[in-house]
Amino acid sequence: MSRLSPSNWSYNILYGAAHSAVVNCADLDCLVGWIWEHLPRATGHIGLKGQLEQLATLLSQQPLQSLVKDDLKRIAAIVGTMDVPTPSEMVKRIRHMHGVAHKTFTKWGLVVPKVEIHVVDDFPRPYQGCPFWAMSLDQKDAADYGIEAGIYFKEKHLYPVVSELTLCHELMHAVLSLRASQELVRGLEDGLCDIFGLYACARVLPYELATSALLNLRFFPATTLDMVYLDHLRQAAALEQRLGFVGLLEVVKHVQRTGRQVLYTLEDAIIQAGQTWQLRHIVREPKQDHARSAEIEGFCFKVLAQPVAYVLSPEAICLRRYLRPGDSVKDLERRVGMSSQAIRAALKELSEGFYLVLMDGDVVISNECPRYIVANAFRYKCDRERSKTILSR
Ligand SMILES: [Zn+2]
Repeated sequence: MSRLSPSNWSYNILYGAAHSAVVNCADLDCLVGWIWEHLPRATGHIGLKGQLEQLATLLSQQPLQSLVKDDLKRIAAIVGTMDVPTPSEMVKRIRHMHGVAHKTFTKWGLVVPKVEIHVVDDFPRPYQGCPFWAMSLDQKDAADYGIEAGIYFKEKHLYPVVSELTLCHELMHAVLSLRASQELVRGLEDGLCDIFGLYACARVLPYELATSALLNLRFFPATTLDMVYLDHLRQAAALEQRLGFVGLLEVVKHVQRTGRQVLYTLEDAIIQAGQTWQLRHIVREPKQDHARSAEIEGFCFKVLAQPVAYVLSPEAICLRRYLRPGDSVKDLERRVGMSSQAIRAALKELSEGFYLVLMDGDVVISNECPRYIVANAFRYKCDRERSKTILSR
């Protein structure tokens, strides 16, 4: 029996849906926190989707509000298409995903160790109170502390899509740990676990949802430690573009035969870019790939090519839609409904901060924003301080 109240569980659904959506907010955890605080709960049984839509109706066309409004609608749409699980159904989904990932990795010719899944209130000693949502405890932990090995999930931190993706990532670590080794489980290995984990996860979940969740987690994370994961995902993606999916698989098989030292060698070679001749004794290259990896090849390209620097203020993002060469600050003030002070600050950001707009005094000479709008490259800032102001005007 789950000890989670239905209300708390709604938060987990919201968190999973927000991370599976293609949103423009660069601080997704912050946005989710704000949404959760402001959801109109006293609305009978309209369900989470209805509550999100209702919250969206409270928001105006003011820059930050209109961006949050768009994201709310996107998240509501995901909740609408999602098969929303109860906590116990979520546990079943994790177990089902385990079976599918196990089968997928085995089909590739990998040896997949038997791994137990534990859904717990807290991790066993000495990991009690650890802030992680999930963790893998290996045979050494089991022997050292008299606990059961396996992949542990905290029940209160089970999130649709995000936890299923995490399971596949962790199972891949188990595959790479087939031979005991001294090296730490980190670095390039995490990037490989992301890519292979995504592939397995997309056997069950819609590819778009799984991809969005991974990109949201890695590209705009809450902490510096999470940024490290993006670096290693990019390394693994670069390796995929070089060797193909089959080549990547060959690397994993090499690790299964010899231990994870080879991953350290590869990571060093990647960091010292140009030293990739070192790869040749590990894998033959280039590789002819089979058609099934086209999605992953596309994903890896996206991971390498996707801009991360275009994180702008809500005002600059809103202004970008209205800019036309020849516009003056006065013209914009009339059309946009922002104060001249806010318009000047946004233009300064777009021109000096991002070199997207050229100005001649008060007049816009050129505007590069539309190309990046089409590519959905912009994200808006909404940190904790800013999120407090969402509904204040
Ligand atoms: Zn990992």
